[in-house]
Amino acid sequence: MFHWACVSVMMLLMKRTEIKCPRCGQKTFWQENPSRPFCSEKCRLVDLGRWANEEYSVAGNKAPQHEDDTQNY
Ligand SMILES: [Zn+2]
Repeated sequence: MFHWACVSVMMLLMKRTEIKCPRCGQKTFWQENPSRPFCSEKCRLVDLGRWANEEYSVAGNKAPQHEDDTQNY
């Protein structure tokens, strides 16, 4: 006997690949998530913002150093 209910459940399980958000570790499904590999758009933006902030802080560190140089003169 073939149980179509079991087959459809199995197909759903096979299709839904569970992934872990690299930002917060929350589990999410790859196929249902437009923000993959993150759990949500928020985590994706936070991760992008982290890189942007690192670039900003590198550029920002140069300004106070320049100010110190002018004060020493
Ligand atoms: Zn997340």
